[in-house]
Amino acid sequence: MKQLKKRNLVFIGAPGAGKGTVAGALCAEYPMVHISTGDLLRNEIRLGTTLGRSVNTLMQQGKLVPDHLVTEIVSARLQSPDCANGFILDGYPRTIHQAELLSETLERLQKRLDRVIYFKVPDDIILQRLTSRISCRQCGAVFNIIFMPPKQDGICDHCGGILFQRPDDSIETVTTRLRIFYEQTNPLIDHYADAQLLFEITDTDKGKVMTTLLEELDC
Ligand code: AMP
Repeated sequence: MKQLKKRNLVFIGAPGAGKGTVAGALCAEYPMVHISTGDLLRNEIRLGTTLGRSVNTLMQQGKLVPDHLVTEIVSARLQSPDCANGFILDGYPRTIHQAELLSETLERLQKRLDRVIYFKVPDDIILQRLTSRISCRQCGAVFNIIFMPPKQDGICDHCGGILFQRPDDSIETVTTRLRIFYEQTNPLIDHYADAQLLFEITDTDKGKVMTTLLEELDC
């Protein structure tokens, strides 16, 4: 089985910076697990669980859900045996407090964080990407009206499900999510730079991002 040398990873970046797409591409080639807290929370909402009901409004408004709730989900997921070959935390941690909680969780599970990848993408590109993003209601696949349109308008290429715009991808909510990112998540960049774990990617082309990233993770 092919393995990367650095395979316990955190991806940080504004919404729409490409974290999910790159995580998906890495996990297709290597036996790592993609843990997207946004996807896990949306799944709780879909299932109508108590947790899902309690975070629904906050998520629709583009606000962060409480640190302890999201940490519990991540901690439970990291304990699955499939995480032994590596994991990508996509969208977690998002605050300094979450970073501290993650560090405690990893210590308890005797795991180590190898790298924190920061996807640094200009705001105008983010806004254009997010407001043209559409997802499948059924399987969660993501398309983009401009950059990656589905073969048939409004229909998912993978499962034939109906495509829709996430309520938190509207221009108003995207603006709130970007503001929150700069306020709450940006301090994490200094935090992980101080810990000598940070690696910054400024490319926006997916091919170039993958080349740069693989070089960094395989050395
Ligand atoms: P995402 O798909 O990563 O953009 O996340 C969508 C939404 O889920 C965010 O706007 C938050 O409401 C919530 N969320 C996801 N991850 C976290 C996190 N680590 N901390 C708090 N809220 C989160």
